[in-house]
This record gives sequence, structure tokens and C-alpha cells, in this order.
Amino acid sequence: MGANRWRRFADWDNRPLRLDRFAVEDAENGFAAFRSPHDPKPGIAIEGGRIVGIDGVAEADFDMIDIFIARYHIDPAVAPMAMAMPSSEIARMLVDMNVPRTELTRLAHGMTPAKLAEVVAELNAMEIAFAYSKMRARKTPGNQGHVTNAKDDPLQLAADAAIAVALGFDEIETTMRVSRNAWANAVACCVGASVGRAGTLFQCASEEAEELRIGMAGFTSYAETVSVYGTERAFMDGDDTPWSKAFLATAYASRGIKMRCTSGAGSELLMGFHEKKSLLYLEARCLCLQRAMGVQGTQNGGIDGAPVTATVPGGVRELMAENLIAVWLDLECASGNDARSTESEIRVGAKILPYLIGGSDLICSGFGSILKYDNSFNPSLLNGEELEDYLVLQRDFEADGGLTPIGEERALDLRVRAVEAIAAVFEELGLGNPTREMKASVVVASGSDETASYTAGQVAHISEAIKARDINVLDVIRALDRRGFREEAENLLYVVKLRISGDYLQTSAMVRNGHVLSAVNDPNDYLGPGTGYRVSEARRQEINGIRDLLDRETVMSEEAEFARHVERGIMLRGMGEAAIGSDPREVVIGVSPAFGLQLFRTLSGIPVDDLLKALVAGITEGGGVPRIVRLRHTADTSFLGLSAARLSGSKVGIGIQTKGTAVIHHADRLPHNNLELFSNAPITNIGHYRALGFNAARHARGEIPEPVVVPQHGEAMGSRYHARVALIYAIETSLTLDGAAPEEIAASFREAAA
Ligand code: CA
Repeated sequence: MGANRWRRFADWDNRPLRLDRFAVEDAENGFAAFRSPHDPKPGIAIEGGRIVGIDGVAEADFDMIDIFIARYHIDPAVAPMAMAMPSSEIARMLVDMNVPRTELTRLAHGMTPAKLAEVVAELNAMEIAFAYSKMRARKTPGNQGHVTNAKDDPLQLAADAAIAVALGFDEIETTMRVSRNAWANAVACCVGASVGRAGTLFQCASEEAEELRIGMAGFTSYAETVSVYGTERAFMDGDDTPWSKAFLATAYASRGIKMRCTSGAGSELLMGFHEKKSLLYLEARCLCLQRAMGVQGTQNGGIDGAPVTATVPGGVRELMAENLIAVWLDLECASGNDARSTESEIRVGAKILPYLIGGSDLICSGFGSILKYDNSFNPSLLNGEELEDYLVLQRDFEADGGLTPIGEERALDLRVRAVEAIAAVFEELGLGNPTREMKASVVVASGSDETASYTAGQVAHISEAIKARDINVLDVIRALDRRGFREEAENLLYVVKLRISGDYLQTSAMVRNGHVLSAVNDPNDYLGPGTGYRVSEARRQEINGIRDLLDRETVMSEEAEFARHVERGIMLRGMGEAAIGSDPREVVIGVSPAFGLQLFRTLSGIPVDDLLKALVAGITEGGGVPRIVRLRHTADTSFLGLSAARLSGSKVGIGIQTKGTAVIHHADRLPHNNLELFSNAPITNIGHYRALGFNAARHARGEIPEPVVVPQHGEAMGSRYHARVALIYAIETSLTLDGAAPEEIAASFREAAA
């Protein structure tokens, strides 16, 4: 470090944020979020009901994306009117709560990619979030989770799938470290997802043909990794066209498998075929293409391109804007937040918030329900590590993020059940015989580093056997049933049967409590306050039920428990009303009403006996004479101190609450103008209290000692302690009595048993 550097920059260098690198805005090289000089101006040309020009490109010059959009997306009956409306006017309609979403979705069907992009670019981040909340297709929000692990271990996949289901994910998906393991992953996750509840949809993201085969074998119930791109060359790079992608989408739908495409800002940039266009414009093309294909919806909002998009100015706002275009086009939207776009926890929290409070069909198109290192899709924006943070955000904002807290006992039960279920399936189908040790290691493991189960190589044999022997989901269901996993067999069969009714092929379909909820039977009807999705009281209680909540009973019983186990070092006896002292060396210690009666330790865990001993020792050491009184008319620190001082022969006293907040006061001073204050009880140690006593004695002798300083390091003391403080203080104040006289206390110190 150079001498001529403000060291705050060195502090900043050590923040996680500095691991993020940011890019200069540079449209020539594709680094432009909302607009590029190379973006076309919105425009449409129609002749005899035929689209003959889009955004400045004449039909003869159409690339295959233009052709597909012109033929299958744009409604020539709506286009002339929609394209003629000023973009600013349409933007206002998007945030006008009185304009129903259906009116806007109709307009969108007549708009070109450049027009859609131009309109949403008019909105600031808050307006985009609001418009998204209003425009999303289904009323009830949902969420999607990743279930993967670094070993492709099927036992862990089953256990983690069961946990994801219990947390409330409406969809879960897996992918592999080793592509050969796809079949084993699929079987493990679909068995795990059948534990505890029916109706969680499941995807196995794999090579396209293999993924379709796995779907046809019945193991999966949705697909969403059919990627589309905003430039022709990016498409051709993957040997694809809009027609080939549409054909694949149809293949899924024909087998009753729910299907959405994937696109998102940054993919063309990463592939090197961005045509110098803005990220938003290219994504608008992708989305028009997807609507043209007739798919249920999209997984967009950056996806694998989110990290590069977040390096660009306005990139995170762009991710929100492209999600808005998706729902405006009436597509179901799994709104990204899957790839972790930053190392900064602040940026993570900020990024998720608009989706959490605004709701989305699937808030994350892949919340990492597992730990980061086990996330085979790459770390998600949020992962197993931060899952409880997310649950608390739901509670903070009373927002339904689709998840529900689960208790430790239930989690363990589910993991045992899931591991036993997949082990039974493997045994029944002759795929393996997991040992008791393997199973036990998985049940308690937070991640695959802690398991002694299958290796990726062993899994490959299982996976290939499943494929080679044409094992399908009915074989698995029968195996579950034969081994007594009746409920799991029924749950899995329920998901398979969904394919026959086809109800879940509707836009934004998910399964809740045995029913398909979709844009058809649960349409987002937002028209201002009191409409649209509201968190019901029952749901609010679920969201609120995070673990380790404090209440008065908990605090009281913890205190009583503490008092039972700590060896009392002092006997305190009430000696009747305390009088004013006359000894000029006297320092009166005024303790609070519940001190040693109902409350027995400070917030830093010091037993009240040790605390008193330290104060007495300090006063004596400083040449003072200690006297203890219990004050019963107040529990306020300042008044405890002042009242003690007024009883003291030296006019100096110490006021102390049981929680450890203390003050040195003088009888002639104003209540809140004390001599020394110890307000940070949680970090005040026994040495500090002894020094406080010592200083009080020095004050009593008319000296001005160096104040005792309790060093603090920026701990958010309020967040850590204020709930407990309020509960404890209520116990203190419940014992106060107006006008009650101070009580003289005789303390007899007992030597600790050696
Ligand atoms: Ca996904």
C-alpha cells in the first residue's frame, strides 16, 4: 500500500463487491442495456393484411427471426393502432392501475420488438416493478428451485428434493455434473419430490434429445431449457432455427409436458453475435419469437447472461424490463434470479426485492435450494446458504415469495423418508443397494462434501442401466408401492396423470393443493389497492413462522432455567426502607426492580451476583464505601442512577438494570446528564463493571477520572438484542410501583466453592 492513499479505498478493496468487475458502456461492443445507436427505430409496414416491414427492415431483407415474428407474432389487425400510439402514452398505461392488463396484452400483440423495447425504456425501475406486478399473468406468485449436487448423488438428490418440496417450490429442476447421469438424477428427484406433498413439477435439464426422452419416460413434467436468441447468427451457432425450436416445443406439449423457452439479456453478447444492438432490443426479439412459437412462457431475466448484464450501467434495471416485456406479451414468466450476478450480498438483496414484493409466476427460475458448491447450474442469485435470509425478507415485507419455513424435526423426517424411498426403488429395480452408512451420511449432510454415498462414476452405471432397460416412471411408482411407499407412489402418479388432462399446459400453470392454478382460473386481476394478489391471514402466519422466535414466555423460562443452574454467589436480603446516607465516601448502587428476583443476568451473560461483586470490588478499590438499594419506583437507567445518587452520602450513585445497562450519576445533575453511561450492555464485560465501580468512587471523592470506554465494532446491537431488551424491560417495569420507597439490601457474599 502506498503512503499516499486514503486507506478507505483499501477497506473497500476488501469488500466482496470488489470481486465484481464492471464494464464501460460501449454499444459498439455490445455493452449497452437499453439503447444502442444501432437499434432500429420502431416501425411497421402492412400491405393487404401482410406484414412487409418491421422496425425499418423490408420483407426482402428479413432474417429468419423477422420472418417468424412477422408471420406468427404480429397481429395485423392490432398493429396499425398499437404502433401509432406514442410510446410514452403506452408506458403510462402500463403503470395506470385503472387500465386492465388484458387491454395492454392485446396492444402488445400488435407491437414490434423495437416498439416494445422503446415503451418499457420509458419506465424507471420502480415503475417497471409496479408494471410487472400488474401485468404478470397469474395472480398467485410461485417459485422454482434447483436440486443438484456435485456428486450427482441420487440419495442426496432425493433428500434435497423432498426439502425443496416442503419449502414450497412449485417447480424443481436438476442438471448433472456428468451428462451420463441424467437418468439417475431424474429418477432420484422425481422420487424425492413425491415425499410429503403432490404436485411439484420437475425438470431434468440435459442435452435436448436426451431431455425429451427422459420426459417421454415420464420422469419429468416440464421443460424450459429450449433456448432462443435475438440474432440469427447466435441461433445458427447452435444449429437451430425458430422453426426447429418451435418443433421441439410442440414435441413436449404433445406429450403433455409443460414447456417454456429460455432467453435473456447477455446471451448474444457472450456468444459474440450481438450485432451492436442493445441487450433489451435483442431480448424483445426473443420474446416476440417465443410468443410466436405458442409456448406457455419464458424463463428470462438474464439467465446465464445475467452476470454480464449486471456489469453494464442499468443492467439490473434491464433485466427487470425484459421480464416486463415477457408478461406484457402474456407469456408465463420464470423471472431469472437464477445465476448469481454478484458477490455482494447487498446487490443480491436489492436485486431480488422487486420480484419478491411484486410477485412473479416463478420469482426465481432456479433458487439454489442446495449449497452454492452443489449447484450444478452454477450458483443461483440465492442459494441454500441464504435461504433463511429470503424467508425473513418475506416476513419483513409481508410478501409471498412462494416459500414456507420448515422446522428442523420435519426436515430430518423428510430426508429420512426420501432416502429410504429412493433406496427402496433402487433395490426393487436392481439398481443398487445403498448401505446404512451411505443413507445416514446423506440424511444429515448440508452438502455433498459431507456425504459418504455414491460417487459420480457409480451413478453413471445406475443411470445407464435405467436408460438401457427402458425403466419408466410407472416402474418406479410400482416399486414405491411394493415397498410400502404408498403415499409417494400416489403423489408421483398424480403428477404423471396431469399430462392426460393437460390443464397444466395453460399459461402460468402450477399445482397447489391438488388443483392447477393458472392464468385461466387464477388470472391476475390487479386494478389497484385491494385487488390482485393479497397475502391471506393464513398465509401470513405461515410466512411469519421462522424459527427461534422470542416471546415473553421464552425469556421468562430461559431466565428461570439460568437461575436454576447458576451457583448463587450472593444472598440479597431486603432490610426495609433505605435512608439517605451520610458517609462522604459512600457510593450507592441502585438496582432495578427485577434484579435477582425475576431476572438473573446481563445481556452479555454476566450473572447478577458477579456483576454486584464487581461493582462492590471496584468501589472499594477506588476508596469508596458501597451500599446496595433496590429501587422499586422506576426501571429507567437514568432515574435509577439519580435516585441512587440522592440516597448516597457522597451524592454519587450507580444505577443498574438487570440487563446490564448502567450509569454513574450525581444528585445535583439533570436526569439525562449523567457522569458516565454504559449503554452497550451486550458487549460490557465484568472488567468494565469493576472499572465503573472504581470510577464511581473517584467521582465520589470529587475527582474526574478518565471515563471507562466499552469498545464497539459497529455491531447491529439493536437487531441482535432489542426484541429481548423490550421483553426484559417489560418484566422490570411490571414490578415498578409508583411512589414505592427504596429498599435497603444486605448482601452477603459467599466464596465460590473451590
Ligand atoms: Ca430454471
